[in-house]
Amino acid sequence: MGEDNKKIGNKLEDFSEKLFKNFGWELLAQQLEIKCNDKNHKNSKNNEKQTHGIDLLFKYSNPFNNRNEVIIVECKNHKWEDFIPSKLNLWVEELLNTIECASCSEVINGYIDDCTLKTGLLLFNSTDNEYDKERAIQNLSQITVPRKKISTMLLLADTLLIEKWYSLIDKLEEIKNNNIKDFGFVYPSIDSKWEKINCLIPELLFSDFIITQHSEDIKTGNVTINCEIKSIFCFDKIYKDAITYIESMIETMQLASHNKDYKICVYWYPETSEDITYINNLNKENDGKIIYKSMKNPRISIVDNGL
Ligand SMILES: [Zn+2]
Repeated sequence: MGEDNKKIGNKLEDFSEKLFKNFGWELLAQQLEIKCNDKNHKNSKNNEKQTHGIDLLFKYSNPFNNRNEVIIVECKNHKWEDFIPSKLNLWVEELLNTIECASCSEVINGYIDDCTLKTGLLLFNSTDNEYDKERAIQNLSQITVPRKKISTMLLLADTLLIEKWYSLIDKLEEIKNNNIKDFGFVYPSIDSKWEKINCLIPELLFSDFIITQHSEDIKTGNVTINCEIKSIFCFDKIYKDAITYIESMIETMQLASHNKDYKICVYWYPETSEDITYINNLNKENDGKIIYKSMKNPRISIVDNGL
């Protein structure tokens, strides 16, 4: 890796640190090097690995199993032409190998204490605006995941998903700047009713819907009322059935409040101008309790190459 590429890589790591802090993850360490202790781990030239590098190590609490979990985040900042099955396979295998060696590394044990390390997240950011969604889907389908000794959850976020997450945190920061109280992420099925906590677990980051709740004082004329606001961030495509689905979700999860003023804001990530018109028309039709908004900001360049 050249020095310039290293700087770009570091910059993505800085952004990632900000990104995941907004999701309630705690940064334990970054830029670590650990010893490889498995002779089967090879580098790209098929020689035995000596060390594994770890870009970012985070901790978060998982409400589904009441455990603190640790995740290794690997940042790849490359030209779009590198998003090909052969390279993806290499990166996936290396991340799995890193998790294997990290789980018995004294260096890592010093950070993770009694937490579980079983998850890896690979971030791919394209540095040249050549991202192509169809090709991304096709190439992702060709990844082959090798069998490993320990059970591991491996997640991969490409450029489009990273941009969606940035739009999400921009909106969350906008909401939090509004003098709000009691912000948290809503989890649907804990003990058959929803629960609110400060952390968004990795699995939910890949879901089509992310729900938050907070309360806010809203002034109407001379009267100020405390309003409960749930925000549904929707990364699904915008189509008629999606609206029906959202409405049934509001009912099933009992997201409407029955004993105080409430608003439900549905944020969408529109991909076409028709999507934006569709959202505007929805706002004209509904009763004012459900508000449809656009989540998308101008395309975010995570990395400027003029370093
Ligand atoms: Zn190893």
